[in-house]
Amino acid sequence: METQELIEKYFRPGRLPHIWCPGCGNGIVTGAIVKAIDKLGLSQDETSIVSGIGCSSRSSGYLDFNTVHSAHGRAIPFATGVKLSEPKLNVIVCTGDGDATAIGGNHFIHAARRNINITVVLFNNNIYGMTGGQYSPLTPTHSKATTAPYGTIERSFDITELAKAAGATFVARATTYHTPVLVDVIAKAIAHDGFSLVEAITACPISFGRQNKKGGAPDMMKWQRDSFVLQAAFDKLPEDKREGKFPMGVLYQAEAPEYTKEYDKVIAAAQGTARPAAQIIRPNTCELEKGGN
Ligand code: SF4
Repeated sequence: METQELIEKYFRPGRLPHIWCPGCGNGIVTGAIVKAIDKLGLSQDETSIVSGIGCSSRSSGYLDFNTVHSAHGRAIPFATGVKLSEPKLNVIVCTGDGDATAIGGNHFIHAARRNINITVVLFNNNIYGMTGGQYSPLTPTHSKATTAPYGTIERSFDITELAKAAGATFVARATTYHTPVLVDVIAKAIAHDGFSLVEAITACPISFGRQNKKGGAPDMMKWQRDSFVLQAAFDKLPEDKREGKFPMGVLYQAEAPEYTKEYDKVIAAAQGTARPAAQIIRPNTCELEKGGN
């Protein structure tokens, strides 16, 4: 599908133009999500996009799906609720590095541990953009931020390693420069039956680039081009050539029981019968409320 057709089909015209700064990579990541959805042929009615707060989280408002623009750091709990109440939905979380790994860090590791079938697309721009240029847990050590004018002394997470250690069963990374790879790994993540993370490396030339003298958006894109290599090529690099390079593509994939399917078994057991998921009667929260409990 051509770009114009994708825009007409998947975006809400009334919400455009977007608010992102010139040169921001968030539009490229959002476009990659739409292309991945289109590639998989997912129904808009059966897809939910949930976001938290921050520059990247504005993406949910622009997209014409069942969307939730939730609270800071709470995108994953909202997504968990959506998935548990309607397991047939494809649930995608759009979140930033501050949103997902600081305020929402606890939610992130526990969703990974549960292996709930949601896809987290983490827009990693290395900084809190919208809230004022503060450093996040993914800001590289010694980088400047409004909260670290002399450079942060904290070591940053490798979010892909954290996700894997916490129990995620699909972990991938790509950049806004390598768009075809980004589309491909997002599509694979959505198709995966379990908790999936895609770390999308994206440029923030304003809040991160300016403070750290990274040049403009094209320079930051060139850095992505020169720093990220596909996992297979990275593995072949001699040790001394790996300095400053990062692997991308699908970094890890495994199978494990998926949370909503396990939860269906609990419901079936509580209802005293084993039955297929389609016949599970989920508690209706409105009915519970009517009952006063
Ligand atoms: Fe993008 Fe950074 Fe501007 Fe936010 S502050 S819209 S992340 S360039």
